[in-house]
Amino acid sequence: MNRIRIPIKAYILGLLPQSAGTGTGGPRTQRTGQQLPALASGLAVPSFWTRPEINQAFAEANRIWTREAEIEFSPVVISERSEMVPPDENGMWAHFINHLTPQTRGIAVGFVHDLPSHEGGWGGGRIAVVSGQKARSGLPGFPGNLLAHELGHVLIDDPNHAYAGNVPSNLMYGRRHPRIVNAGMLNQRQVQLARQRALSI
Ligand SMILES: [Zn+2]
Repeated sequence: MNRIRIPIKAYILGLLPQSAGTGTGGPRTQRTGQQLPALASGLAVPSFWTRPEINQAFAEANRIWTREAEIEFSPVVISERSEMVPPDENGMWAHFINHLTPQTRGIAVGFVHDLPSHEGGWGGGRIAVVSGQKARSGLPGFPGNLLAHELGHVLIDDPNHAYAGNVPSNLMYGRRHPRIVNAGMLNQRQVQLARQRALSI
């Protein structure tokens, strides 16, 4: 297999509340899903991710993806950024898709402190988002494993983890436990789909 490289725009991503003063009594916008309490009450959520932590996460994600599928996320360009976002999961996801998606080739990855959901990260379209708070709750190496999983959601169109075939050692297994970091395998179908998409991304 030839190695496929995908450029990454990584953001140390601070979250800012959309507008102070419209929380109570103001015009109601539709809120769906869980909310991030700090944002919902008008507070900013700094990222707290450092560049070494992000580089380390990509080293681990690349270790998995090159071994399994000869896909390397490189080069990784890291910058700081903040976005004014809705506090609910659906609104925030839509905002990320609309604002983070790279204008050129590649994938954008937002490293945030927390997300309004139980999941440690989100992936889809040409973006992924990883929660530092949840990533740090696992064993060393878990942030990179989580990142690899979310990048998998970008490369393999399988939001319900069906192709993982209910195999716990599969990278794309749905119910992942942060104390188990060895879930890094991909099967032939996943490799084929990911490489196909990687060429056009
Ligand atoms: Zn998943």
